[in-house]
Amino acid sequence: MPGGMTMAETHGVRVRFAPSPTGELHVGGARTVLFNWLFARQSGGKFILRIEDTDEQRSKDELVQPILDSVRWLGLDWDEGPEVGGPYAPYFQSQRGEVYREYTERLVASGHAYPCYCTPEELAQRREAARAEGRPPRYDGRCRDLSEAQRRSLAAEGRTAALRLRVPDTGQISITDIIRGEVTFDNATLDDFVLVKSGGMPVYNFACVVDDHTMRITHVIRAEEHLSNTPKQVHIYRALGLPIPEFAHVPMVLAPDRSKLSKRHGATATAEYKVQGYLPEALNNYLALVGWYPEDGEEFMSVVELTAKFRLDRVSKSAGIYDNGKLTWMNGVYLRSVSLPRLAEAAAPFLAGVVPEGAAPGRLHKVLDAVRDRVKTLAELPGVVGYFYSDQFEYEDKGVRKHFGPEAVQVLESCREAVAGMALDAAAEAYEAAYRQLAERLGVQASALIHPTRLALTGQTVGPGLFVVMELLGRDQCLARLNRAAAFCRQLAAS
Ligand code: GLU
Repeated sequence: MPGGMTMAETHGVRVRFAPSPTGELHVGGARTVLFNWLFARQSGGKFILRIEDTDEQRSKDELVQPILDSVRWLGLDWDEGPEVGGPYAPYFQSQRGEVYREYTERLVASGHAYPCYCTPEELAQRREAARAEGRPPRYDGRCRDLSEAQRRSLAAEGRTAALRLRVPDTGQISITDIIRGEVTFDNATLDDFVLVKSGGMPVYNFACVVDDHTMRITHVIRAEEHLSNTPKQVHIYRALGLPIPEFAHVPMVLAPDRSKLSKRHGATATAEYKVQGYLPEALNNYLALVGWYPEDGEEFMSVVELTAKFRLDRVSKSAGIYDNGKLTWMNGVYLRSVSLPRLAEAAAPFLAGVVPEGAAPGRLHKVLDAVRDRVKTLAELPGVVGYFYSDQFEYEDKGVRKHFGPEAVQVLESCREAVAGMALDAAAEAYEAAYRQLAERLGVQASALIHPTRLALTGQTVGPGLFVVMELLGRDQCLARLNRAAAFCRQLAAS
């Protein structure tokens, strides 16, 4: 680097999220994306998305799109990668064979890598034998120093070679991880690991190094489970004489009981949160707090605030606890505080079939505002919004027993008369004044009118302020529903 400058100083910060398409985007993965994205955005750097699909058995093409969709749903846009392209394309490892070949040749030419002709069966046998003798089951270096003639003769037997890296037998690798500090690995714990399989497919550690280098990645921010890969990757960088990026291994995500996060703790796939009616802004906010905490202790942060406050070097070393209950609570707070247009936009897929297409947005916003403190997820909205758009509801049994007794016919008739005298588009305050007057005139508590009216208008015993509901329904809808309820009560009393 010129004048001892770091790669980040010469190229700007470049980070990447590199999922393998072997499953859905787990919430732990979503947090890794978020941390990368926040770090890129706060440093004016670039966020790259790369698909690590060299594992032919486990990678599935059809899993790429759902991962991309989940990242996009979270609003974490990438500057380079699938669908957007970029100067270091392609961003799928399965399409980068030529790049890997060039680096393979360099390693072979410099003597850092060598062909290994051992068959999988032979390797398995030797591993077994090592285990039986209590030795670590590592590759024994058999093909390390073969002569050219020996290589030719093994090839002539029809063996195809894998490529292994010559790893020093002694010494250590130390890295200074941004989160974990100095971490040291003994070379003696490593063996000459495979870089390219005998079929020609590079393995993860090799492809990852070549890509991180050729894509000018400055900071590798990834899950802690990859910490054990890091010394291998550092050996590859060294063998190639390449600068080594900075590493930050983010801690695991565990359930509140400190066990591995699984379905029994709630949804684990990001996409499920979308379906269950969580706001991506709430999920991002919550995920940021799993393993990190802002210095000022303020838990609620928009993505703009997160970008300003996030500090990679303050991410905790210990596992982050993922508590679905807290996320759900936080989602409820977000539902109460986002703008009404945003709420309506996010709610739209959940309200299809409940709110007719082309319904007036202004009224919908008021309806959502009236009910939003009653739900914790968007999926609960149809249950509390339905009666604003349809009178095809039944009366709650419990309510009928309590509020539709013998006196209800008279009460509902009086209410209907009061409402009939109101303006077509009377405001909540006007309804309230009319009801207070009526209660006084009848010598009853206002609640004696409010409860049966609520049941008549909504079918439910609880809900938003009744007079707001009345304003939103409008006079004529209120009248029709009061009539219907009175008829229902009349029938009930007669039966
Ligand atoms: N492809 C790896 C995974 O999905 C990520 C490796 C890395 O970030 O270096 O776990």
